[in-house]
Amino acid sequence: MAGSKSRETKVAPLSRAAKRGLLQSSKRFFLSIVIGQWPVIFVIGFSLLAPQFIGIYSESYRLIILALLVAVVYAAYSSGLRQGLVSAVLAVLFNTYILSNEVVTVSINDDAVRSILLLVVVLPGVASVIGYLKERNDFFLAKEKQARTQAEKSEQRLRFMAEAMPQKIFTANPSGKIDYLNQQWLEYSGLTFKELKSNNFTIMLHRDDNSEVERRWWHSMETGEPFQVESRLKRADGKFHWHLTRAEALRSNQGKIIMWVGSSTDIEDVRRTRRLEANTKQLIEERRQLKVLNKAKDEFISLASHQLRTPATGVKQYIGMLLEGYAGKISKQQRSMLRHAFDSNEREITIINDLLRVAQLDAGKVHLHVAKTNMTSLIQDVLDEQKSAFKARQQTITFAAGKTSIMAPIDAARMRMVLENLIDNAGKYTPDGKKIEVGLAKKAGRVLVTVADEGIGIEPEDKEKIFEKFARLESPLSVAAEGSGLGLYWTKQIIDLHGGSISVDSKPGEGSTFTLSLPA
Ligand code: ADP
Repeated sequence: MAGSKSRETKVAPLSRAAKRGLLQSSKRFFLSIVIGQWPVIFVIGFSLLAPQFIGIYSESYRLIILALLVAVVYAAYSSGLRQGLVSAVLAVLFNTYILSNEVVTVSINDDAVRSILLLVVVLPGVASVIGYLKERNDFFLAKEKQARTQAEKSEQRLRFMAEAMPQKIFTANPSGKIDYLNQQWLEYSGLTFKELKSNNFTIMLHRDDNSEVERRWWHSMETGEPFQVESRLKRADGKFHWHLTRAEALRSNQGKIIMWVGSSTDIEDVRRTRRLEANTKQLIEERRQLKVLNKAKDEFISLASHQLRTPATGVKQYIGMLLEGYAGKISKQQRSMLRHAFDSNEREITIINDLLRVAQLDAGKVHLHVAKTNMTSLIQDVLDEQKSAFKARQQTITFAAGKTSIMAPIDAARMRMVLENLIDNAGKYTPDGKKIEVGLAKKAGRVLVTVADEGIGIEPEDKEKIFEKFARLESPLSVAAEGSGLGLYWTKQIIDLHGGSISVDSKPGEGSTFTLSLPA
């Protein structure tokens, strides 16, 4: 039938290599069995080779039985259950041979029966028990060895991992004594393992942290609770770095502490960042408070200036009327005194106006009205206005303007005040009879205005300072020249609002050049 044919299983013929393998393993198996039988084979061989010698003695049969017994027990003990049993079978077969071929003289009496029983029943039993015990013992020994090797391997792996880590790793025994430190400890501290181990790290600890670390460590050792502390540890170069050290207890299945495993991480950068954050927070708060104070101060100056200006304007008006003779004739002396009063009042009004202008600027109330303006004529105007003041000081003032006028997008009214201030300063801080040069040029899309004098000059360290509020440098000319110290501050702010910049180049005792750079 086709169906039954198809169900036939074909056994694949063994390959040559498989056959050879099978042959070899069976050879090994028989060889091991034969080798394990050497005690019994020895007894049998001896009995067969020296029958005359054995036959002489009436007790020889018992001796052979005893020797076989010992041989079987030894085979079972040394090679295990299978060998013991094979030895027992050999011994029984040999006994049968002896009895049937009368190799030794044996009368079938009780002794012989007992011996036969001993060999047939007891021997395989004894061999089984001994062999079984031996195999069990071997089995447990092998298991223990395997476990030990495994433990050694995993410990090796753990140590390897610990060495590869960037952190400092340590282990301690259950009583808290350090018994392992990875290489990172030695590199960080520059100390030897022995030095570190001998005093449980205290050699590295900052004096101020010592007692806290000790207290927490021994508390953890007593309670088994995790250990954690932040402390300073000394580096090889003597510097202390903050570290976060943690340790946990490793417990057996029964909950007993086997060891402590811990690590220390350098948190110097983290602490520094934390400190910086705290400082920044404090600074921000201080800045906020300062801003509030500054605003209050600006408001006060603005209010006070307003309040002062009204009476000062009143004084100006009435002194003016007196000078013009509205209240009758005044003597020469009275006129001179009134003139002094008028001039002083004028200076006061200038200061009040400066204060008001700055207060307005600080309050963000200054908005430029920018329009394309002829800078050449603006400068010329200012120079014409101040001509008499320069003449009074016998100073020469020149204006180097090109042939064509230069235009710039500016707030003309405020730029006029800027120029007045710079040109006025040049005159004020320059000795009588010297020269002042004003320049105007267009360069690389910028309009450049320069005011150069042959005055007292400015020390390098004061170059930034003069643009600050109320900055007045000490010099005999500064004392003589009156001012509020607000002019350049205001000037700079206005130039900044124009998207320009102001700078000064100066040699003390030789003169200064102020340069305005404005977008064209
Ligand atoms: P002030 O009203 O005092 O002139 P400014 O703000 O205009 O105030 O100037 C600040 C200070 O800068 C002056 O007090 C003076 O010491 C210094 N300074 C200004 N311009 C010059 C200059 N051309 N040469 C030397 N020092 C000057």
